[in-house]
Amino acid sequence: LRSVYASVGALNYVGAGWRNARVDMEAYLELMALEPEIRSSAVPVPLPAGQAGGVTLEMRHVSFGYDPERLILRDVSFRLEAGRMLAVVGRSGSGKSTLARLVSRLYDPLAGEVLMEGVALPALSLETLRAQIGVVAQDTSLFNATVGENIAYGRIGASREAVRQAAEAAQLGAFIDRLPEGLDTLVGERGVRLSGGERQRMAIARVILRNPRLLVLDEATSALDTRTEEAIQQELLALSAGRTTVVIAHRLSTIQQADHILVMDGGEVVEEGTHHELMEKAGIYAGMWRLQAGGGSVGGHSDVEG
Ligand code: ADP
Ligand code: MG
Repeated sequence: LRSVYASVGALNYVGAGWRNARVDMEAYLELMALEPEIRSSAVPVPLPAGQAGGVTLEMRHVSFGYDPERLILRDVSFRLEAGRMLAVVGRSGSGKSTLARLVSRLYDPLAGEVLMEGVALPALSLETLRAQIGVVAQDTSLFNATVGENIAYGRIGASREAVRQAAEAAQLGAFIDRLPEGLDTLVGERGVRLSGGERQRMAIARVILRNPRLLVLDEATSALDTRTEEAIQQELLALSAGRTTVVIAHRLSTIQQADHILVMDGGEVVEEGTHHELMEKAGIYAGMWRLQAGGGSVGGHSDVEG
């Protein structure tokens, strides 16, 4: 048994004869496992309107472990103004993806707080919170649905034209043109299998279409070949303009523009500042930079199309 049939409320893509989505067993079980712990506030605080162009995001002394006996994040703090970009770097296993998961409230901290527009996340409704955030993660699960439905996931009533444009921006245009039924081609077990790089581009198309106020890019291009990565990098940079962005990058070149950089090691922030400040400091970050100039990558990933 590999997949479970369930209809997904958010998958309301308007299209002729589009079928109900079937959710991956894994994604489904993950959701079930998370539901009991992460609940919407009974009396949710509405998110302050804020200014156009992003939300403020803050962590205050956040500590967290999947197992409370083993802390994965220790006393992490930062404050990001609306529209600014935070970059998080550090070796593999240093807690970067965990930090990103706490921002989307897939987990709650054991100590400390995560705040959006000054409101602690548990005080918001999950629906409000998740509506603000678009995530491109290292590994994207797709639904057993069509390519178009997968891209439209999270944006109710997206037009076919908008889906097509998002796909183009995510460098999926040629890929879709080669599919037997274009946007209407099924993906997954019953349809076409997507490579890691294609899945990642699907996730990028999703966030382009969703237009979130907070963009979280967790090694969003790690599965792409260099040429595709460069093309998409431009799109992501354009997308991040005027919205708050948290970027976890395995290539330092993508984060030079960040307003603030956190260097993580063993779940702690060991250095922080702008690119120039950190280079002048000649510490860990500067060392990573030297290493990468020699052809390495920060997270220890290889640049192969999966
Ligand atoms: P990074 O993204 O910097 O590589 P992660 O946040 O993925 O680091 O992982 C930090 C630590 O947390 C690692 O030791 C990893 O094994 C552990 N970890 C990550 N995800 C989980 C999980 N879902 N359950 C238990 N431990 C996890
Ligand atoms: Mg990670």
